[in-house]
Amino acid sequence: MLITATTVNGLRVIDEMKTKSPLSTDEKTIYFTRIVCLVLEDKSAVHGCTECTFTGSLGAVRLHLGAQHPKAVSTVPRVSRDQLMGLSATQLLEKAASAERNARDRDYWKRRARKAEGKLRSIHATTAPTR
Ligand SMILES: [Zn+2]
Repeated sequence: MLITATTVNGLRVIDEMKTKSPLSTDEKTIYFTRIVCLVLEDKSAVHGCTECTFTGSLGAVRLHLGAQHPKAVSTVPRVSRDQLMGLSATQLLEKAASAERNARDRDYWKRRARKAEGKLRSIHATTAPTR
């Protein structure tokens, strides 16, 4: 059993389903491996993190996963030494510039994700039922 929330905003989770990835095609269905769809007792549904009890929209859970449970292995494809040797100086400079742009982009989105998670946490804190 995965570690996911058992209640969301006071509502019991009554079912857990796989969440289809937008990478799915007509030929092949691809599911998120770390995001599940939780059906609540009022028949509404939210997405949940499989690594902890975080729940929210699909986008919120994706942001949460990236910020809180980043994968150890980089998803950026590695360029082999042989591939680099075949490039011109101009192509190498373009690759270096592209890598810098990607790193800046990643840092920008990471900051935004952290900020959004903070806002989401405060929304959850203010909307959570009091015990
Ligand atoms: Zn989590």
